Amino acid sequence: MFNVENIRKDFPILSRKVNGKPLVYFDNAATSQTPQQVIDVIVDYYSNYNANIHRGVHTLSQEATDKYEQARKKIQAHFNAKFAHEIIFTSGTTHGINLVANGFSSLLKKGDEIIVSALEHHSNIVPWQMLSERTGAILKVIPMNLDGELVMSEYDKLLSKNTKLVFVNHISNALGTINPIEYIIEKAHQVGAAVLVDGAQSCPHIKPDVQALDVDFYVVSAHKMCGPTGQGMLYGKESWLKKLPPYQGGGEMIAEVTFEKTTYAELPHKFEAGTPNICGGIAFGAAIDYMNAIGFDAIATYEHDLLEYATKKLLDIEGLKIYGTSKHKTSVISFNLESIHPYDVGTILDKLGIAARTGHHCAQPIMDYFKIPGTVRASFAFYNTKAEIDALVEGVKKAKTMLS
Ligand SMILES: *Cc1c(COP(=O)(O)O)cnc(C)c1O
Repeated sequence: MFNVENIRKDFPILSRKVNGKPLVYFDNAATSQTPQQVIDVIVDYYSNYNANIHRGVHTLSQEATDKYEQARKKIQAHFNAKFAHEIIFTSGTTHGINLVANGFSSLLKKGDEIIVSALEHHSNIVPWQMLSERTGAILKVIPMNLDGELVMSEYDKLLSKNTKLVFVNHISNALGTINPIEYIIEKAHQVGAAVLVDGAQSCPHIKPDVQALDVDFYVVSAHKMCGPTGQGMLYGKESWLKKLPPYQGGGEMIAEVTFEKTTYAELPHKFEAGTPNICGGIAFGAAIDYMNAIGFDAIATYEHDLLEYATKKLLDIEGLKIYGTSKHKTSVISFNLESIHPYDVGTILDKLGIAARTGHHCAQPIMDYFKIPGTVRASFAFYNTKAEIDALVEGVKKAKTMLS
């Protein structure tokens, strides 16, 4: 049974104080907190079997290699990839996107078209702009509406036989909107385009099935789902990963090297040059175990309840406006108090021990669309409580009184 008080005991950081007040951590969309079960795995790695992988015959190296490859299999099972070698370890979502964008440099030509959405994080915009500059491919944008939803009738119009790639996030980090990626993928495939889904914000809340989605590439960061920073994964369909050239050259990614010619290693190693974040990969596996033990259905139900509770309470504050009002959204609330700068609200909340994000949330085009400098963003995880939301609401009321 889902018991939030027991779950909170797993997270040492949740019992600390900030500015003399109990920490209320509502910046989960930026990074999640780490349970003791994952911290223990990190300590165990460095205490007992820290060694480089895939090369040594010695015991430590074999132990580390086994655990690292076991983690890859856990990740494969979690996202339901067909093969373990379709899981490429990366340093995070940004790395995964850049790996794919670089790979497409040699596959695109002038006049090809690539489609992005208006709801993207900068890391799912800039690498494609760079790709477009390198190749002459044209970048087109799926527009959004005032609820913060992508307009699918406009997407339909953008698609053509020239479309080669579509990249869109599963869930918006700035507004929480859940995008209709099933539809987006199906339509893109009808014109022969590949689809990359940025799953950085979906993986903390739902369990995506890459085969059911029939997605070509799916990228996530471990640190958004109770794992360590500097670690992530790229899922790619085997056929695509075979087609893409390697991203970086170095050790681990080769089959044979001479000065005349180098042949590349098989998947997944072709894309994993150099010594990886071994501990990070193993800890990512532990984070997935941790979240699955709680259960994604229980997490979704609980977080939805928090979202509804907080939305209602915040909207009771006069002059408070929420950005991102789709019916399909996760536990993210982006808001502003009439004419008060989000930074000032965030500063007052911090004095009260409440960690909320302020600013453009790496999604400036969304802020431009709403003609605002930024928002205050409270993003909830399964270890947050209604009592914490009450503290936020009181904090926002206090900020309003002090600043207006
Ligand atoms: C956090 C985030 C990213 C970037 O993830 P990194 O871990 O910083 O690479 C990309 N897209 C979305 C939607 C995000 O929320």
